Amino acid sequence: MCCVNISHKRRALVAGVDQDSKGNFQMTDTLDTEALRAKYEAERVKRLRGDGNEQYVEPVGQFAHYLDDPYVEVVEREPVTDEVTVAFVGGGFAGLVTGARLKEAGIEDVRIIEKGGDFGGTWYWNRYPGAQCDTAAFIYMPLLEETGHMPSRKYTQAPEILEHCQRIGKHFDLYNNALFSTEVTEIQWEESSKRWIIRTNRGDEMRAKFVAQGTGPLHRAKLPGIPGIQSFGGHSFHTSRWDYDYTGGSPSGEPMANLANKRVGIIGTGATAVQCVPHLAATAGELFVFQRTPSSIDVRNNQDTDPEWFATLGPGWQQEWLWNFTTLQTGGFTDEDLVMDGWTDISQRIRDKALENGDFSEEGLVQAYHDSDDEKMAEIRARVDQLIKDPATAEALKPWYRQLCKRPCFHDEYLDAFNRGSVNLIDTDGKGVERIDETGVWVGDQHYELDCLIYASGFEVGTSYERRSGFDSIGRDGVRLSEVWADGMVTKHGTHVHGFPNLFIVGPNQGANLISNVPHNLTERGATIAAILRHSIDGGFDEVEVSAESQDEWMSLLEAGGRSFGNDPSCTPGYYNNEGKTETRGTRNFLGYPDGPIAYFDYIKQWRESGKFEGLQFR
Ligand code: NDP
Repeated sequence: MCCVNISHKRRALVAGVDQDSKGNFQMTDTLDTEALRAKYEAERVKRLRGDGNEQYVEPVGQFAHYLDDPYVEVVEREPVTDEVTVAFVGGGFAGLVTGARLKEAGIEDVRIIEKGGDFGGTWYWNRYPGAQCDTAAFIYMPLLEETGHMPSRKYTQAPEILEHCQRIGKHFDLYNNALFSTEVTEIQWEESSKRWIIRTNRGDEMRAKFVAQGTGPLHRAKLPGIPGIQSFGGHSFHTSRWDYDYTGGSPSGEPMANLANKRVGIIGTGATAVQCVPHLAATAGELFVFQRTPSSIDVRNNQDTDPEWFATLGPGWQQEWLWNFTTLQTGGFTDEDLVMDGWTDISQRIRDKALENGDFSEEGLVQAYHDSDDEKMAEIRARVDQLIKDPATAEALKPWYRQLCKRPCFHDEYLDAFNRGSVNLIDTDGKGVERIDETGVWVGDQHYELDCLIYASGFEVGTSYERRSGFDSIGRDGVRLSEVWADGMVTKHGTHVHGFPNLFIVGPNQGANLISNVPHNLTERGATIAAILRHSIDGGFDEVEVSAESQDEWMSLLEAGGRSFGNDPSCTPGYYNNEGKTETRGTRNFLGYPDGPIAYFDYIKQWRESGKFEGLQFR
């Protein structure tokens, strides 16, 4: 398998594209699926490594400074030892939307505890040039109607999203009681007082009747474990802590003038690099992009929002858009595609292919997915040929895997950046950078001297819960959540864990699991938690906890349904499939409601509105 050798002409044919007499690539009707599969497999095998997630270095010890907050001066303060009704760990969208729903439910005493110097979560940290959201702003930015904000563009830039986070914080009066630049180190249930004790790195020891945690699926930055990484003598940083003091420029796009005479390297070509490379390319004296696996780069086609059109949207429009997107994104039918983006395109292609084949059986749907994906990926590879002038560079930028094996990317300037004379694509043919030394980076026997090395190496996904969140939760009888979740999450609805009364988890997992629009999961979960807390407070209860039986039933339902995101071992390795290693933890964490996100959202709405909260015990 490792030695499949496909000639240039043959390569074009397997992709479903062919060259005309002038050398231009055209889509063809012929698609040699067997050769295509062999090519995918050969590329996958090249990238398999025994160390999986262990190939990455945790930013601790000598690497801890990579996580320092470059955006604020941390101000000394006295430790906090008071008590609140609700403490929320994490000030990103999860904390903000849950806080908003709690306030709407009349629960005022809410404290958000956040590691960063402000609200925003991922949008607080990720201020790299070009950062923007790949999901359309009208559905991605939560609470638009409540806060009266009109997104300026279909896909908004990061500064606008950060500002929106601050807007939610102000609108719902969440700043008042928040603690910033504060990292939770442990939360512990105290049976005698029926309270959670929350300890932090600032010496705080506060109490809360209820605790919720939403620390984000991509929270903890990771570094590539490349031999010699500690020895680099130039300047280096991770993309989630962009050092504008060094580069010049700003998150809103001012050119990074300080890089004009610098040799800059960037390791990684995932969704982050795809967005920042064009900006680096425009300013760096010379740019070296070290690639292990190319991303798939589909069309972006961003547009400004027309205020007149926006003013025509009636009350309830955002909920309608959310519903429309989720229905289409998960294979359903609507009269109209309101969002019309890359995500709804992928799923409608699969749905329409199944219609065309007249086969909606499980096998039929898999076949439809394969057929439509082969066409889509052929288009994506043909786009590389259209946009890249140098054929060898074009060849290296083509992704050979299914689009959903890795995070699909959408960009209209990334590929073109490689046509600049100052930009060098250093393709490592799946092997990755070999070594780093004091002056630069080695790939094979070639050394690249660098002034600055940027790690676009992503975030931990498949590692243990307490490592990713940075703290452990200790429930009844001293049982640690890290122990209960050693082989993956065990919950009801992704929210409740038996043995952890008055504790709520806020994320997409084991619920709707709608990865293409994470905030939708969070607003629904926030509404559900607000309803439970309202009921608990009104009833004068001390505790609310899921029963062991109800939790088991939920896990059995999910496991029997087998609906999971990613985890396809036939994919090229990446965080979508636990770096190619199928393990119980990864499989379990990404389980979702068997009938899909729309059915889950319907189910959970009825569950919370019934007022019975079936499966929970109020004491
Ligand atoms: P990723 O994990 O997607 O990418 C990490 C990159 O580093 C990969 O290209 C990886 O290669 C590469 N890499 C790792 N080790 C080495 C090595 N030793 N040598 C060379 N290359 C190496 O991280 P990102 O930060 O790009 O993205 C993370 C996620 O954040 C995205 O998938 C997305 O969900 C989210 N995001 C969302 C955006 C949005 O629009 N909403 C924008 C940006 C990010 P390989 O592929 O071979 O593993």
